[in-house]
Amino acid sequence: MVRVRIAPSPTGDPHVGTAYSALFNWAFARHHGGTFILRIEDTDRSRSTPESEAAIIESLRWLGLDWDEGPIKGGAHGPYRQSERSEIYAEHVDQLLAKAKAYRCFCTPERLAEMRADQKKHNRQFGYDGHCRGLSTDEVDEKLAARIPHVVRLRVDKEGTTSFTDEIRGTVNFDNENVDDQVLLKSDGFPTYHLANVVDDHLMEVTHVIRAEEWISSTPKHVILYDAFGWDRPAFIHLPLLRNKNKSKISKRKNPTSLLFYREKGYLPQALLNFLSLMGWSTADEEEVFTIDRLAAEIRARDIHVGSPVFDLEKLDWLNGVYIRSLGIEELADKVMETGLGDMEVGRDQVVKVLPLVQERMKTLTEFSERADFFFKEVATSVESFKKVKLAPGEIARLLERAVPVIEEVGLDAADLLETRLRDLAVECEVKVGQIFMAVRIAVTGKSATPPLIESMAVLGQAECVARIGRAVAILR
Ligand code: GLU
Repeated sequence: MVRVRIAPSPTGDPHVGTAYSALFNWAFARHHGGTFILRIEDTDRSRSTPESEAAIIESLRWLGLDWDEGPIKGGAHGPYRQSERSEIYAEHVDQLLAKAKAYRCFCTPERLAEMRADQKKHNRQFGYDGHCRGLSTDEVDEKLAARIPHVVRLRVDKEGTTSFTDEIRGTVNFDNENVDDQVLLKSDGFPTYHLANVVDDHLMEVTHVIRAEEWISSTPKHVILYDAFGWDRPAFIHLPLLRNKNKSKISKRKNPTSLLFYREKGYLPQALLNFLSLMGWSTADEEEVFTIDRLAAEIRARDIHVGSPVFDLEKLDWLNGVYIRSLGIEELADKVMETGLGDMEVGRDQVVKVLPLVQERMKTLTEFSERADFFFKEVATSVESFKKVKLAPGEIARLLERAVPVIEEVGLDAADLLETRLRDLAVECEVKVGQIFMAVRIAVTGKSATPPLIESMAVLGQAECVARIGRAVAILR
């Protein structure tokens, strides 16, 4: 029975990396008819917040990545919030202390700071120097009686190597001399990530640990812990890290990393998930557009990529556009309304009317209000707005004045005829066809790039268009 989990730490905004790990774990669980667990790793008391946990849960719901066990859902292996499992960790630390696989360390923060400074000065590997490893039982008891604050550390045998198998990378070896005597229990009695993660993965009967590559260096500590407890290890799969174009790990400075950003900006969950799928997997025929159900149906652990995928927002924009175009107008209108229209007050029926003109060009849902605002509010033009017409303001005004009777005569429903007549007018006035269309476009929409002009004018109505052109003429004169 496959059991997998994601174990986000509720610190800050929900991260796109969490969605990425969640997606692959979810797909793997669905593929094998297994269980997908959500566990909240909130042992860092100073940084964890309930708001962040709520936002993670909300984001996973938005994405439609539903978990089988975890907060809200419950399950037989709870609680699923590490802050509610302190006793479990304390018991397990006692087991390790009894087996001498862990030891108490009473070093003061000052001593540790000096040690680190010294290691830095001599260019030596950072890590605990083992000062308290050899304390006798009496010495330990004495310090405990004196209530000297302490932590519990993992006793790493510094000889030899620690190896584990990563399902996609093969054998990974670490020299033990480079594996630190990791703190397992902090002086506040809370476990560190390493202890809590291993204890929980074991007790929650996790069979496959699927997480981002950045955790690889923690895995030797984890396998040492599994061995120390005498437990079987789960299988490990480290997903390739999402990277900026320059190959560095994605960071807020280069790319938005908050899932809230993608939601607010109007990315569709299906598009974002399709995009994240491509970061670690491809279909046999290298198709780019596919659903996560297909990922779930076809994914095999060994096909997950090892290479470093570039988190390329242009690709995401493209995919989002593909998904936007695949929606029917009614459905798209609902989504546009949900995402919001900025400061515009527009009814759904108006959105439905205008959407067919902009759907083709929209890459995000919020682009609707950027591209279509001129339908709903007066445009503010200035002489400067008409720069792209490349004529003197007076000439543009004359051109527009001559366009008005043509529009009035032909009307806006016969798009082809109106276009022909405006072209004729361009010839008559000895300007380029592009110039006359650009002048009308800017006068009516305030923009130099818009949905198809005459169709847009038809939606606006003849009277409104003529009025807008009139106002533009007044400004240009
Ligand atoms: N709490 C870790 C995180 O924030 C979990 C890493 C893991 O999956 O082991 O991502």
